[in-house]
Amino acid sequence: MKHDFSGIGMTSARTRGRMLDRLRQQGIRNEEVLAAMGNTPRHIFVDEALAHRAYDDASLPIGLGQTISQPYIVARMVELALTAPHRDKVLEIGTGCGYQTVVLAQLFKTVYSVERIGQLLDKARVRLRDLRINNTRLRHGDGFLGIAEAAPFDVIVMAAAPAFVPESLLNQLATGGKMVFPIGTVNQELRMIERTNDGFSESKLEKVRFVPMLPGLA
Ligand code: SAH
Repeated sequence: MKHDFSGIGMTSARTRGRMLDRLRQQGIRNEEVLAAMGNTPRHIFVDEALAHRAYDDASLPIGLGQTISQPYIVARMVELALTAPHRDKVLEIGTGCGYQTVVLAQLFKTVYSVERIGQLLDKARVRLRDLRINNTRLRHGDGFLGIAEAAPFDVIVMAAAPAFVPESLLNQLATGGKMVFPIGTVNQELRMIERTNDGFSESKLEKVRFVPMLPGLA
């Protein structure tokens, strides 16, 4: 999906260019991911007081004890997501401020995103509307349950770390589909599960730090 955010008043091209240079240095090679992130006005997803730090390589508070993921981890997860054979439907667990939702919206036909904190979701909705994005479906819900009626998904990306692999999400993955997610409590790691014809195959990737995935609505 092509999106033109040029009316949004992006911070300087130099600031965004520096973020992309850093992502390349950190090993991000996928030009589609880099283009989508270079095109996304990250500063509108954080409070105005923090906007000058929006393109730093850091996670930042977005209120209610949650954080916007650092650029590197968004890039890494989306890059892994693009190894799936199809890009029709992606399910994101943990909309948060909606930044990764917007990156995904540029690379997938339809983005389904579930957030358990209603106040965060309301703010994300406003941002997506301001950006005139219309290929996202946001839901106030518990990500542990996924969205059964929209399944199967080509990709599932989780932005919060569960202590165990949620069974219902595995069931909502298309054959050939990929689930990219952090897992663990104190020591977390990034993993990717592929649904194959006869089951699932899992790869363990790098160490990460995410907020915990919590059950129920807030
Ligand atoms: N991609 C987001 C990440 C926000 S942090 C961003 O860049 O802003 C992770 C988010 O996951 C938080 O907003 C948190 O409320 C949400 N979350 C945690 N457990 C969840 C669950 N069970 N279902 C849906 N969202 C959940």
